[in-house]
Amino acid sequence: MRPLNAQIRLENLRHNYRILKNIHGGKLLAVVKADAYGHGAVRCAHALADMADGFAVASVEEAVQLREHGIENPILLLGGVFEAGEYRPADHYRLWPAVCSQWQLEALLHHQWQQPVKVWLKMDSGMHRSGFFPHNYAAAYTALKQSQNIESIVKFSHFSCADEVDDAMTAMQMEAFDSGCGGLEGEESLANSAAMLRYPAARRDWGRAGIALYGACPLGHADSRLKPVMRLSTRVFGERVLQPHSPVGYGAAFYTEKSTRVGLIACGYADGYPRHAPSGTPVAIGSHRSRVIGRVSMDMMTVELDVSQEGIGSEVELWGDTVNVNEVAKAAGTIAYELLCHVKRAKFTYYE
Ligand SMILES: *Cc1c(COP(=O)(O)O)cnc(C)c1O
Repeated sequence: MRPLNAQIRLENLRHNYRILKNIHGGKLLAVVKADAYGHGAVRCAHALADMADGFAVASVEEAVQLREHGIENPILLLGGVFEAGEYRPADHYRLWPAVCSQWQLEALLHHQWQQPVKVWLKMDSGMHRSGFFPHNYAAAYTALKQSQNIESIVKFSHFSCADEVDDAMTAMQMEAFDSGCGGLEGEESLANSAAMLRYPAARRDWGRAGIALYGACPLGHADSRLKPVMRLSTRVFGERVLQPHSPVGYGAAFYTEKSTRVGLIACGYADGYPRHAPSGTPVAIGSHRSRVIGRVSMDMMTVELDVSQEGIGSEVELWGDTVNVNEVAKAAGTIAYELLCHVKRAKFTYYE
């Protein structure tokens, strides 16, 4: 069997939820959209079900999958519905729709609700992707408030730059949010992972934790409070010694400087490993850190073996405990989110 393994440590997921809930203070939604950032939504939701204040997903389909697997916790549709007809399953499965635009608002008010619904009303506080502008927000809020079908309204917004060093944009968005909400009663939610770690003022009634829940610090380094949930590993299945000045792999993009032992490992870009990871991207062979050399191929890639006991059969960690996923993301010019979401063809094993 091909030895590419994604180990999912559910105890680490539970640990991260506890830590983040503690940091945020209020209630905390566990964001499990995109199959729990590639970790497996059903398994992750079950692992958190007894502690999570709720879950958040990107579509009715993702929410229904959780309900059909016995998840009873509240579930938020982060972007709301995509068509008016989706309010029927939202009603039936007791989902919380976000309302991010005028048509969603009107369709929601038209729907014949079987039970009162909790609604998350989104403000566009400056990201300019979705939500009501601050000057239109109170009107949208009031329209919902007047409906018999609305149980309660959570006021929320999303930051564009909470993970960036410069905090001016986040400060501006918080100001816009607070002034747009002026006087409107009800719960609030602003913080994604980065904001709950960095901005105490963004910690309101509800946090929405995604990436940090999976143990990847959104600020791009390792955070010792968080434990990586996924460990992606494979094995060396080929080995050769190359003379100095030998090219390795597609495009002859890497030349050895010295006599080099090269290991061939079973992982490539068809598994979700980033093809743009250059020579030098870290891997760990046993507990020893080494590096990718040559281009990443579809099904395999090459690494430097520089300890004599390393060779065929040696285990190689692509990311996990020794190599932080952020290091690989940075080397490849992307973010941990993308790497975690893209893992495929690996054998997923869940550890309670
Ligand atoms: C995905 C998402 C989150 C989670 O963001 P992280 O950076 O992964 O914590 C929070 N809020 C909204 C609206 C989202 O779409």
